[in-house]
Amino acid sequence: MPTVAIVGRPNVGKSTIFNRIAGDRISIVEDTPGVTRDRIYAHGEWLSNTFSMIDTGGIDVGDEPFLKQITEQAEVAIDEADVIVFVVSAREGVTDSDEKVAQILYRANKPVILAVNKADNPEQRQDIYDFYSLGFGDPYPISGAHGLGLGDLLDAVVKAFPDETGDVEDTSTRFSLIGRPNVGKSSLVNALLGEDRVIVSDIAGTTRDAIDTKFVTDNGDEFTMVDTAGIRKRGKVYENTERYSVMRAMKAIDNSDVVLFVLNAEEGIREQDKKVAGYAHEAGRGIIILVNKWDAIKKNNQSLHDFEIHVREEFQYLAYAPMLFVSAKTHQRLHELPELIKKVSVNHNKRVQSSTLNDVLMDAVAMNPTPTDNGKRLRIFYATQVAVAPPTFVIFVNDPELMHFSYERYLENQIREHFDFSGTPIHLIERHRK
Ligand code: GDP
Repeated sequence: MPTVAIVGRPNVGKSTIFNRIAGDRISIVEDTPGVTRDRIYAHGEWLSNTFSMIDTGGIDVGDEPFLKQITEQAEVAIDEADVIVFVVSAREGVTDSDEKVAQILYRANKPVILAVNKADNPEQRQDIYDFYSLGFGDPYPISGAHGLGLGDLLDAVVKAFPDETGDVEDTSTRFSLIGRPNVGKSSLVNALLGEDRVIVSDIAGTTRDAIDTKFVTDNGDEFTMVDTAGIRKRGKVYENTERYSVMRAMKAIDNSDVVLFVLNAEEGIREQDKKVAGYAHEAGRGIIILVNKWDAIKKNNQSLHDFEIHVREEFQYLAYAPMLFVSAKTHQRLHELPELIKKVSVNHNKRVQSSTLNDVLMDAVAMNPTPTDNGKRLRIFYATQVAVAPPTFVIFVNDPELMHFSYERYLENQIREHFDFSGTPIHLIERHRK
């Protein structure tokens, strides 16, 4: 998925534009922990193109002086984006700070689209010629507040997307590692790419320097580790800020089939772990919980069991995710990981037969009657799988309002008992049928 970054000095209206484009796709799942209302990362869509979007203004780079901040935000854009939308303001005209941002963007070697925001009325939309001096070609007058001019802007953005390379289709299983700092992600990357793996290639993104690593296991299974470079790279100030790492994680999740959610056994579960898990769950990818640094724990024969119970309690919504206790240091159980990733990916993309699915549901209804409300009983007519990744089922019923949360969960459990969907969320959707 191409990435669009929105940059510009403070107060030009970056977030307004970001929210306009993201629209109601910034969905908030209330019961998922860690999902905040102010986002810096979202999906956009225009003319059948989907893309991810970063509001660089939302990345807090700490107490840095003003110029340093806009510099770092521009650098985030250069590092992460395929196309950069540079926002200036029709009200103030070209300012010194705009020129400063422009200077940095010249070095980007990426397409930059110049958006002149706050062009709310026709005169302002005419009066944009000064902005040619910034050197990014035609300025696009827009009004984020009123939603004007966004169509032309998005046309230009979509046109600047990198061409899909005509390479043979990549059939490898794509996975990423996510987790708060210091849980051992980069150590795990190194351990997984250890001696016995043939590294096929470091895949450079079409125009960016983010690098995925493709490798093959002994039995010939192909994997691509997403954003390997991002995990290993350290140092720039913004790379250590929490919002930046969240954004990076969400981008990696977007580009994966399976997400390895890494916990640190030594430190136990922290608040930030819950946020990270929330993002992974919300994205609907396959998930494996990796408990790392298991070597560093004083253990008895209860320890693993106790820790597992603890994790299950803290992450109840991840009940479908298998857990593996590993050590990047001693490589304990790491050899089991590729097989497990493969299995989760298969389950994530699994399609089941409608006839079997309906047998399962009818048996479920026979064992445990459907709920009633005011004397009216839920009736289930028929179910069918409408999508994979994650597996999504539509259940045709007499009245969707009658479906009860607990009954839906019961049906999900019955489906899971009959089909192996371990590692993947599954979605049930009720539809009305007369
Ligand atoms: P990241 O921030 O998640 O990428 O974490 P790192 O891979 O940089 O690891 C953080 C620290 O934990 C480093 O000092 C590692 O040496 C250490 N570490 C990582 N994995 C293990 C492990 O399995 N066992 C032990 N004992 N230490 C580990």
